[in-house]
Amino acid sequence: MNTLQKAIKHFCLITKHKWVVFKLCVKVGEPIRGILHDLSKYSWTEFSEGVKYYSGTHSPIIECKKHKGYSEAWLHHKGRNKHHSEYWIDKNTPQKFIIMPYKYVAEMLCDKMAAGMIYKGKEWTKEYELRYWLEEKDKIDINPKIRDLVTDCLTQVSKNGIDEVYTKENFKKLYKKYCS
Ligand SMILES: [Zn+2]
Repeated sequence: MNTLQKAIKHFCLITKHKWVVFKLCVKVGEPIRGILHDLSKYSWTEFSEGVKYYSGTHSPIIECKKHKGYSEAWLHHKGRNKHHSEYWIDKNTPQKFIIMPYKYVAEMLCDKMAAGMIYKGKEWTKEYELRYWLEEKDKIDINPKIRDLVTDCLTQVSKNGIDEVYTKENFKKLYKKYCS
């Protein structure tokens, strides 16, 4: 694949991802988060790396880290996008991992679900996201209450599916249960 082809593919992938996130955000009553989601992916720092390490089956950030040891796109992304738990870290505070505000937790849950659905395509099942999360969750820097909230949410999805779980009422209930 040449650079232009990779650029087109990468553009389509991030735009498709944004669209799926938007639809889920609308479903949980956070349309604005859906519109603003991941806009920095169209910036030069993130877009050019995404093209260079485009794979189509997994995130170019992972691919770049394998080659370079780190990803400038990721450092750029996590510093600007509040739906990533890594944004909410300040090791010079007593809690270190700050509890994310509700709207960003909702956006993060939509982001996780959309990412799995797009990368897995037809192979995606409602149990997939939980399986993936259980392998990842202890490697991620995240407030423990938010970690438990995500586990609860994805467990619900693995049993009842997205339609039942991804609602404004249920998301508010989950946030209240773990974060207040
Ligand atoms: Zn993001």
